[in-house]
Amino acid sequence: MYYVSTRSKQEKLTAAQAIARGLAADGGLLTPESFPTLTAGDLERLKDMTYQQRAVEIMGRYLDDFSAQELSGFALSAYGPDKFDDPAVAPVRTVDGATHCLELWHGPTCAFKDMALQMLPHLLSASLVKNHETKTVCILVATSGDTGKAALEGFRDVKGTRILVFYPKNGVSAIQELQMNTQEGENVGVCSVVGNFDDAQTGVKKLFSDEALGQELARRGYFFSSANSINWGRVLPQIVYYISAYCDLVKAGKIAAGESINVCVPTGNFGNILAGYYAKKMGLPIGKLICASNSNNVLTDFLRTGTYDRNRKFYNTTSPSMDILISSNLERMLYELSGCNDEEVGGYMAALSAHGTYTVSGEIKAKLEELFAAGYCDDEGTKATIEKMWREHGYLIDPHTAVAFHVLEQYRAQSGDMSPTVVVSTASPFKFCDSVLSALGVEEVSEGTAIIDQLSAVTGVAAPAPLSGLKDKRVRFDKTVAKEHMVDQVLEMLR
Ligand SMILES: *Cc1c(COP(=O)(O)O)cnc(C)c1O
Repeated sequence: MYYVSTRSKQEKLTAAQAIARGLAADGGLLTPESFPTLTAGDLERLKDMTYQQRAVEIMGRYLDDFSAQELSGFALSAYGPDKFDDPAVAPVRTVDGATHCLELWHGPTCAFKDMALQMLPHLLSASLVKNHETKTVCILVATSGDTGKAALEGFRDVKGTRILVFYPKNGVSAIQELQMNTQEGENVGVCSVVGNFDDAQTGVKKLFSDEALGQELARRGYFFSSANSINWGRVLPQIVYYISAYCDLVKAGKIAAGESINVCVPTGNFGNILAGYYAKKMGLPIGKLICASNSNNVLTDFLRTGTYDRNRKFYNTTSPSMDILISSNLERMLYELSGCNDEEVGGYMAALSAHGTYTVSGEIKAKLEELFAAGYCDDEGTKATIEKMWREHGYLIDPHTAVAFHVLEQYRAQSGDMSPTVVVSTASPFKFCDSVLSALGVEEVSEGTAIIDQLSAVTGVAAPAPLSGLKDKRVRFDKTVAKEHMVDQVLEMLR
């Protein structure tokens, strides 16, 4: 199977080349040229497999230059019991008769980025070998919190890789900072930058384009790459959990084999819900893909009107991982819905970068309406939903997941569609203790890591071990540099 850019189909790449490159040379996203299909018989077989086996089976369909044996090794280390605290890896919890919650936060950093970032480093490291790359890859990350930690955990001690994370000194929570600064592993580095997230991000972009630095690192046997969410190696592992959740529901007798379900996804960069669309395209019986946004509701408007317009106010919300105005992975969706029309997609993306807005064709709009429903929920609604889920179901959820439950309720009330639905839960509530405590009506909130024990004491729910154990971890990194000195940090780490 080959991969092509969403902006020109001329060059065909193998999966290993697509994963090693991350982004196409023309700025487009690398996307499979065709999609494998899942038959009812395939689903029946997958039903009796473990999560790791399902991952091998499904990813293997897209990675024909990787052997099943290789992929098994990756799946066992990425999703093993030392990484995930639930043997199901991505367990499905039934909330009421027709509402099921897919928990994607049982990994080492307690958020859904682990599902992809535990797998990507293995895919990348093996891809480099397949491409005869002899240099060591150094992953550079600028993070506002969650992605940095998930990338550190994913790349930790993976052969042939180094990872260096920069975070803004004044832009992450005390818990996020401690999570990163206590990171273990021989190939990791963490450093804070004076300033906000933009300062860190601009600094990292400069490092990527610094030619003198690139040459010096090449001499030392390194080259830079990124682990961002547009890499095919991050999208692919996410297809697995939609199929896995369906199999689990059939196996538990909660839906009949072949029965259609809806999925409701708290969305930012459009990577997670795109994977749900790909699962549907492969043949998984999914009816509506319900796209849930917070007050940064650019996608709600787009899916309802066909006009994408990023020229709007930006809100800092209590679901910060969805505070995004440009959803990069939407480009892959447009490519599919335009019938793989690279010129048309290139036109939309050029308009987006020139004017911050574009309007899709009538055909694409009609397809979007058929596939998707969309809604949004502000911070008040988020808070009310956390409180209600706890009161009515004894189920403690984080703000991102609450956005999805709220939007599902809106959708059901408006459409009357009561199909069985999988709500995707993207973070442990213990990652957002302050918002959750405040939603539960607790006013005096503890400082630092004590807030984790407080949420546990108030609710009687045990905190995940990677968070409750944080206070006993040794701080390994405590350096803060000015933006101009990030380059020295890189040179020091990659000696
Ligand atoms: C990244 C993230 C999201 C958004 O996912 P996308 O794939 O970017 O749409 C939602 N919730 C949490 C907790 C996240 O970390």
